[in-house]
Amino acid sequence: MTLALYPGSFDPVTNGHLDAAARAVRLFQPVIMAVFDRPLKNVLFSVEERVELLRETTKDMPGIQVQAYTSLTVDYAREIGAKVIVRGLRDAIDFAYEFKMAQINQTIDPDIDVVFFMANGEFSFLSSSTVREIAALGGDVSGFVPPSVAHALARKFGRTK
Ligand code: ADP
Repeated sequence: MTLALYPGSFDPVTNGHLDAAARAVRLFQPVIMAVFDRPLKNVLFSVEERVELLRETTKDMPGIQVQAYTSLTVDYAREIGAKVIVRGLRDAIDFAYEFKMAQINQTIDPDIDVVFFMANGEFSFLSSSTVREIAALGGDVSGFVPPSVAHALARKFGRTK
């Protein structure tokens, strides 16, 4: 089957990311979920923490592997032999950004296609940044992220045992 790269910041991974990954792995094998190590934005979790949380939450999902990367996404896809890049689309704002990125990527390497998964309605409002904000204010994020991520957020914000 075709190897796919699912890149992102995953700061932290949410149930929305996992839903898209679970659907991607029905079409592509393996799906490499790759944590971008130099996002141009401030992150809450270090790359090591983000990788560890992703590994923990995907350990029972056959066909999903987790890596970190630092290069241009298209270059990394080429390096690992991925012909497909997987991304998720929640709304028109995602679309505007992703459409532009996909066209840039296609210009850089026409052999690599970007495949989009429409967010499940249940998760279309869900983003890592919303989860971080709720957790920072002491809210309950257990409906939005796996238990290990909820614990990691509680630890980050000094709310655990
Ligand atoms: P970025 O890579 O832009 O920093 P993220 O790490 O938050 O963004 O997300 C990685 C990918 O997963 C993006 O394509 C994003 O649109 C998608 N995604 C994020 N949240 C969801 C969700 N709730 N449902 C489906 N896809 C999502």
